[in-house]
Amino acid sequence: MIYKSFKDIKLSRLGMGNMRLPSLGEDKWNSPIDYAESARMIDEAMKGGVNYYDTAYVYQNGDSERCVGEAMKRYPRDSFYLATKFNYRANPDYKAVFAEQLERLQTDHIDFYLLHCMTERNIDNYLNCGCIEFFEQMKKEGKITYFGFSSHAQPDTLRRFADAHKWDFAQIQMNYLDWEFSTTEEEYNILTERNIPVIVMESVRGGRLSSLTPELDARLQEKQPGWSVSSWAFRWLMTHDNVLVMLSGMSTMDQVKDNLRTFDKDNALTPELSSFLIDIAHEFKKGFTVPCTACRYCTPHCPMKLDIPSLLKVYNDYKYDRRWENNLKDMEADKLPSNCIGCGSCMEQCPQNIEIPTYMAKLSKLHETGKEE
Ligand code: SF4
Ligand code: SF4
Repeated sequence: MIYKSFKDIKLSRLGMGNMRLPSLGEDKWNSPIDYAESARMIDEAMKGGVNYYDTAYVYQNGDSERCVGEAMKRYPRDSFYLATKFNYRANPDYKAVFAEQLERLQTDHIDFYLLHCMTERNIDNYLNCGCIEFFEQMKKEGKITYFGFSSHAQPDTLRRFADAHKWDFAQIQMNYLDWEFSTTEEEYNILTERNIPVIVMESVRGGRLSSLTPELDARLQEKQPGWSVSSWAFRWLMTHDNVLVMLSGMSTMDQVKDNLRTFDKDNALTPELSSFLIDIAHEFKKGFTVPCTACRYCTPHCPMKLDIPSLLKVYNDYKYDRRWENNLKDMEADKLPSNCIGCGSCMEQCPQNIEIPTYMAKLSKLHETGKEE
């Protein structure tokens, strides 16, 4: 495992994201977490030298924090760092949330504490509700070691938030696709200019960069035999000096093992390989239309209980290779996109600002007529 210094500690460059832990039932999003398999994955990560474990109050309906607490209590508390987050929208009572998190995680302190998913819609809530002062007080009392935030905001909002407090670190969505086609480079520069180290989320864009298209995957593999497609994304991130930890939301033991191989030594891409990857990204983007990261912030707010990220994935599959019907064929009637009533509740939650009802309508039309428009 490779490490990077942060203040007076060393962090593993790979961080284990615990928002997609394996579940017991068929419905992987609403079934309880498989604690035993998750613990085995965490054991493998610990054995491989990972010392950064990220969760949040809202992940997997709160079960992620409980599961991480159970798994980590078997290790000496000074052998790993815990990161978790306060989400204003989920519960604005920051004192109660923090107390509950300590209990769920079975710990007396959180090493890395974040305000979760700062956006244009909640920036003033975070700045004015008193939580920053409270968490600073927790820091003074030793219950929080480092205090930061995660952002899905546009650059101007990020700039405003970054200047509003002395943050120890910040977490942003960063990967080669968003760097090339979104505002990530500007966001990274805003933090770097302020000496705020970056924790990366969505390194492989919710798994989307783990497999591009069969043709593009083959080109990557031909260029560097033995490298997984995901590992290209991490090796690209390693070329950025202000990146501290790269999170990967792992769901299977195979992913843990593949990630450990990637982080075995400093494997940053050479300039030639970076430029090769960016060419691949441009080809990929031609067919990549909906930038959904499968964070699932939207789904609890859908009155029709639609599995929005899965439906958006169907739409993207259609865009890639026109193979989409099979994905809807076995879907229960009440889960089809035609059930969308266009209420827009989902959009209020979406950090990617995706016009979800528009895509539901397109997909519904596709389903009915075989044509998008
Ligand atoms: S707009 Fe459609 S997908 Fe979004 S919350 Fe409303 S019903 Fe659900
Ligand atoms: S549509 Fe937006 S909120 Fe919903 S899963 Fe995708 S990125 Fe997340």
